[in-house]
Amino acid sequence: MSNYKLGLDFAEELDQNDELSSYRYQFHIPKDKNGNELIYLCGNSLGLQPKRTKSYINQELEDWANLGVEGHTEAKNPWLPYHEFLTESMAKLVGAKPIEVVTMNTLTANLHFMMVSFYKPTETRYKILIESDAFPSDKYAVESQLRHHGFDDKEGLILWKPRTGEELLRYEDLETIMEENGHEIALVMIGGVNYYTGQFFDLKRITKLGHKHGCLVGFDCAHGAGNVELNLHDSEADFAVWCTYKYLNSGPGSIAGVFVHERHAYNKTLNRFTGWWSHNKEARFNMRQEFDQLPGAEGWQLSNPPILSLAAIRASLDIFNEVGMEKLNKKLKKLTGYFEFLLKQLGEDTIRIITPSNYEERGCQLSIQVKNTDKKLFDKLTESGVISDWREPDVIRCAPVPLYNSYQDVYKMVERLKAILNE
Ligand SMILES: *Cc1c(COP(=O)(O)O)cnc(C)c1O
Repeated sequence: MSNYKLGLDFAEELDQNDELSSYRYQFHIPKDKNGNELIYLCGNSLGLQPKRTKSYINQELEDWANLGVEGHTEAKNPWLPYHEFLTESMAKLVGAKPIEVVTMNTLTANLHFMMVSFYKPTETRYKILIESDAFPSDKYAVESQLRHHGFDDKEGLILWKPRTGEELLRYEDLETIMEENGHEIALVMIGGVNYYTGQFFDLKRITKLGHKHGCLVGFDCAHGAGNVELNLHDSEADFAVWCTYKYLNSGPGSIAGVFVHERHAYNKTLNRFTGWWSHNKEARFNMRQEFDQLPGAEGWQLSNPPILSLAAIRASLDIFNEVGMEKLNKKLKKLTGYFEFLLKQLGEDTIRIITPSNYEERGCQLSIQVKNTDKKLFDKLTESGVISDWREPDVIRCAPVPLYNSYQDVYKMVERLKAILNE
């Protein structure tokens, strides 16, 4: 997209002209033993801590110390409706309406809760379709759902596979599967951005195809939220789930997001697991009443949520709100494009990028296959101060995150990789 040039000068120039460059200073950048900043390209696994997070959490700790139980209503940010303070920002971030999102539980737990409602197997239509290289947790979750409903977890699972010798998935192949097996498939559940290849799928296209064949369609957007523009509402998907500790910088194990399309918001006939937090807010504390279903995604909550985790998410969402996904997306394309440009200089005999080269089919992550090597290369890269991650058998995943990574980060990473390869 841009006319990239080689050399450190050019990286410095890109940083100087980067309108988002100051955001890096709003994050804690991990350092090595000697106090030098590491090159952190692992936001796809655990996002960095915004400096403001501490004060958001401290506010809640103080209110808890000073107010005890009264904090539910008297805290500066009252805990009873605390999750509502996140709703609008979260909705904007994933391209949804406020009634369609809620922040609750953890990712895999939410996937199960969504399947309670949206995996509705019958004797003839009970299969689940996932991508063959789905994230393990997702695969285990759908297998256990099949077993839970009394089906065989091998026979009931249909895999969308890459062709031999390829890594990326083709829509033609999905269309073929749907033509042949669509009538047996109850649920299509795909990772919106594949964790391994970084392939960003066309959610709308997949949903349309699934619906055409009478299936319900959901997405795991763990690698999409905060990374790419998901436009969940327009995708027409039935549901989506994501976590907040990757691109959403909300801390290890922080709680997760859920999207349920508006058309299901008032449907009281959907099967679901419920708790007191799925009950009508106005009457929640009257206790001895008949259950009264809360509309929208909020109606899938069970418990009162962990406020300290919500505070961290709120701190992060405030940054996203300030910057907006549009500017982030613009930098993402330029930064990852630059990374790709530099990597390609290493030569096709040395490395191959398995992530799609089309900007519309990826986020910031590039999955780099290094030929004729093993994990030792990755260990050396880590020793040199580059934090990325390794997936067997030969792939290094690197995610230059537009919020806090610089063009110089990317430049230095490739220089260090080159030095190690030349040893
Ligand atoms: C990170 C990730 C998970 C992790 O699940 P948790 O329940 O948060 O531990 C699951 N699925 C996908 C696709 C992921 O990327």
